[in-house]
Amino acid sequence: MAKLKNISQINNWFENFTEPLIIAGPCSAETEKQVIDTAKQIAAIGKVSVFRSGIWKPRTRPGNFEGIGEVGLKWLQQVKAETGLLTAVEVANAQHLEQAIKADVDILWIGARTTSNPFSVQELADRLKGYDKPIMVKNPINPDVQLWVGALERFHKAGVNMLAAIHRGFYPFEATTLRNIPKWEIPIELKSICHDLPIICDPSHIAGNTEYIPEIAQKAMDLNMNGLMIETHYDPLVALSDMNQQVTPSELNKLLNKLVFRSISAKDEDFTSILETLRDQIDSIDQQMLELLSQRMSVVEDIGKYKSKNDVTILQLRRWEKIMSTRIKLGKKLGLTEDFVKKLLQLVHKESIQRQTEVMNKISSKK
Ligand code: PEP
Ligand code: MN
Repeated sequence: MAKLKNISQINNWFENFTEPLIIAGPCSAETEKQVIDTAKQIAAIGKVSVFRSGIWKPRTRPGNFEGIGEVGLKWLQQVKAETGLLTAVEVANAQHLEQAIKADVDILWIGARTTSNPFSVQELADRLKGYDKPIMVKNPINPDVQLWVGALERFHKAGVNMLAAIHRGFYPFEATTLRNIPKWEIPIELKSICHDLPIICDPSHIAGNTEYIPEIAQKAMDLNMNGLMIETHYDPLVALSDMNQQVTPSELNKLLNKLVFRSISAKDEDFTSILETLRDQIDSIDQQMLELLSQRMSVVEDIGKYKSKNDVTILQLRRWEKIMSTRIKLGKKLGLTEDFVKKLLQLVHKESIQRQTEVMNKISSKK
């Protein structure tokens, strides 16, 4: 980690951009017309420097649109020639990398699934030796800052000096409003490990839905992040991937116009002061705490339904005692006092009983 902290060159390539760096373009390249028209409309906004597009798509299930493949790289060359925008694609293996370099793609990014796998990252890093390509590394699917740093280090060790990170949120194990949990404390920690590393936010993959993109983009700007990557499609309704989270170029324009950019950009004040950083961590943790409490309450309601169906009483003393003793023990291990954990549990339990009573009353009134 110390190694990354000492790299000063990595920031230099970013100085060429008027900050924040705006990257926009479709989740996937689909047709020549879609790519070219979207790129022209994006270029007309005048605030976007880089055109992104997925050419090979990592899909959770086979059979979904897996990307247009190499032919799409020709369309990106056309984008460059006709709009002057730089181009960026995701590469996941050595073959992608070679094809993208051959087609003169300007920036390569590593997807979240690839960053999660050190073997793939090492394979890419080895192939990059000798090339002078900027690489942007998305965070791994799991909130593991070391894995993220590790991927950046593998590229740096291979001689890549033009590095940036992309924050795209982390996989939620329970359903949440957002597609991926932002866990802002993680990119903040990355920044504290590596001061000079530019960090870009991808609000599209955090949000999963266009509705939440503006507030996430604003939050990233308030944290003094170095740029945004926003999925943009000229007709999102017919998009072959991530259709709910893609904005149109005109929506992108409105979104960018509404963003408030913070004025402090002095190098050493980058990414907010220590106090603000800590407050941001608290905000993010509180949000996760409330989301978890809300998930707990919906499980409580399911239990209420089950109890009602099977005529079980709401309060089962033995279970409650077990909850208390195991949580107090865990709390102690985690440095929380018995008194605090007890009070917290009592409060949560009281609300849970109330929820179950409501659910059971509703069911019995229908019986
Ligand atoms: C993408 O940028 O379209 C993409 C697949 O993102 P991620 O790797 O963050 O899921
Ligand atoms: Mn996408």
